[in-house]
Formats: sequence, structure tokens, C-alpha cells
Amino acid sequence: MQQSVPRAKSLMWINERPDFVFVRGDGSWLIDERGKRYLDFVQGWAVNSLGHSHPALVRALAEQAALLINPGPAYFNEPSIVLASRLTANSVFDRVFFANSGAEANEGAIKLARKGGQVNKGGAFEIITFEHGFHGRTLATMSATGKPGWDVRFAPQVPGFPKARLNDLASVEALIGKNTVAVMLEPVQGEAGVIPAEREFMRALRALTRQHQLLLIVDEVQTGVGRTGKLFAYEHADIEPDIMTLGKGLGGGVPLAALLAREACCCFVAGDQGGTFCGNPLAASAGVAVLDILLGPGFLAEVARKGDYLTSKLTALSAELGLGEVRGTGLLQALVLPTDSSAKIVTSAERRSPVGLLLNAPRPNLLRFMPALTVSTDEIDSMIAWLRESLRDAR
Ligand code: PLP
Repeated sequence: MQQSVPRAKSLMWINERPDFVFVRGDGSWLIDERGKRYLDFVQGWAVNSLGHSHPALVRALAEQAALLINPGPAYFNEPSIVLASRLTANSVFDRVFFANSGAEANEGAIKLARKGGQVNKGGAFEIITFEHGFHGRTLATMSATGKPGWDVRFAPQVPGFPKARLNDLASVEALIGKNTVAVMLEPVQGEAGVIPAEREFMRALRALTRQHQLLLIVDEVQTGVGRTGKLFAYEHADIEPDIMTLGKGLGGGVPLAALLAREACCCFVAGDQGGTFCGNPLAASAGVAVLDILLGPGFLAEVARKGDYLTSKLTALSAELGLGEVRGTGLLQALVLPTDSSAKIVTSAERRSPVGLLLNAPRPNLLRFMPALTVSTDEIDSMIAWLRESLRDAR
């Protein structure tokens, strides 16, 4: 396949990409090599929690790079100790293992649960996951994923991931057997189209997993680190999971992910888990800079307020143009369209001139909005105005 930018022909083709090359970012804005500006409501698929090149993040990275980039995972380093303590102090978890991507953190969670099954449950290894859920692109996390058709891509799958239906407790209960060790889910199914697990479902699932002595694993790669207006989305349900994974927003754009667990689940022995770049101080310093800002006075309340503002604006636009449901929490939201036109709208928005708009279309009839947590209400207003134009163009 040809790349849309001819000089990019040495890059492996994995997907069609638009024909511009980004050279700079600033908060909610991206600038391409021709100087065109784009208002960014994708933010690297929800990774730039502080927007592009936030000064605090840039400073932290520059200072840490000058000091120490990577002594290797066999030695302690200060930023990873600080970040782990900050995460445990602000969650229900006791221990942290740092990884480099959401999929790698989820692989760690799967291994930790299976290890628990070996140690405590006579070799139980099955982890119940959910139809339409998404957990990553490694072989095990693809097998845990419930995207239609993913069971045959790269077959055979890694066994042991029976699929239940989200918000249907009976469907989980029906899958519990002697080999079950855990249940794993996203508090909001992001890639499926921003489908929230209901609060009552999360609470009932916690009770059910306790009753059967199963681990509850929350994949907060997309929902964690302030995205939903709380530091972690499990807080909305007032529950205490056993294991959580983080990625995306944790490093503010720098590759950084984490596996968090309660003390009782931490059963790895020497050699079970590791990785060359895991817990390197450069990435960890980014995580510390992100959390310093997120945990500052009023920051998360402001994310929730801007999330409500985005909901109200999308809802009004939907009513005005006869579109579908608006759903989501905080700054992770979706708008359902009456037709399969989301790809067309994304293209029309990015091509608008003189300023482009970047949107995401995870489903053919749905747009997803995941701006920087630092987005302003003026930027939300601009996005709505330009989205309205693109919706009209696409008609
Ligand atoms: N889990 C969830 C809920 C995700 O949304 C994603 C990515 O979109 C992943 C895992 C995989 O993360 P990564 O792409 O960093 O491997």
C-alpha cells in the first residue's frame, strides 16, 4: 500500500493516514509543516492529558534527561519511587509495576491474575472479559478483547478469556467455573463507542467477584488519570477493585503505563515480570509532572465541569441537527450519528480551512471526543461550531 505522504514510504503501512505531517504542538493545538493549525480533540487517543508540550512536562523531561535517563530496571531510581508512592497514596492499591503501553500493563495484569490462580486456586486461569471490550494489541490482550472478528485475526487465540455482556450480571455469573480466577473490564468501554458500565453493575460485579473469590481487574488505560473527572473511574462506583491498569494519560504523551495491585494479589516471584524500559526515570518523571498538576487544587473538579459543558453543547447540537445520543463521563464523550458518516465528518473537519479540527471516529456512526484535560470552554465552543459545519458538509 502507498503512504499518502510519499516520503514516508519507509514506514510500514498499517492504516490510511491523512496527507499532512505534524511538526509542533501547543496545548489543544497541532501545527503541520505547512503552518496550518488544527484544534485537537483526539490528543493522541487521549494520551496528552495536559495538552501538547505543557511547560511543566517539558521542564520535567528536560531536567530528568540531563540527570539520568535509564539506569536499567535492575536498579532503583528516584522518579519511579516518587510516582509509585503518589499513585498508591491516591488509590486503593498498594503496589505498582511500571510498563510502557496499556497492552503491556494489561499483559502484566493477566499474568498476575494467572499467577494468583496457580498459587491460590489450584491452577485456575480463566479471566472473564466482555463483548466489545478493548484491552490492547498483543496476542493475550487481543484475546481478552471482545471486538467482533478479533477472535480469528492471528488465530489461534490465547485461551482463557470467555466473554460476558456489559451491564448484564447474569451473563458474568453464567461463565464462572472452577477455572475462573478474575473478571476484567473497562469502566467505560472506550473503543466500543464510549459505553459506560453502569454504577449498579460495577457494584454488583464487585460483590459477585468477592462472593466467588475472584479478582476484579479494571482496565483504566483510557478512563484513568482524570479523564472522567475523577482520578480513576472506579471511584464513580465507590468500589475497591483488586487490580488496575493505567496507560495513555499517565505520561501526558510520553510512553508510560502501570499495573497497580492490592498487597494480597502481589504474588510474582523473581523472574516472573520485568522489561528493559519498565520504570525508567525519564518516563516516570513525566508521570510525576502529570500527577502534580492533576492533584492540584480544583483541577479534577474543573475537568468534571468542562465535561458537563461539553455534554450540554453536544446535546444541544444533537437536538438542533436531529442526531443521536450523547454519552460518556468527564472529557471522554461520544455523539451517535444517524448514519455511518463518521469517517466522512472526520475528513471534512481536518480539511477545513484555514484552521482544521481533529476528531476521532471509533465506530462508523459515532464520534468520540477526548480533548486535553486542560481544554478551555472557548476551545469547546470552537469545536462545536466547526463540527456543525462539517456535519452540514457531510450531508
Ligand atoms: N486498554 C484500553 C481500555 C485502551 O483503550 C487501550 C488503547 O486504546 C489499551 C488498553 C491499549 O493501550 P496501548 O495502545 O497503549 O497498548
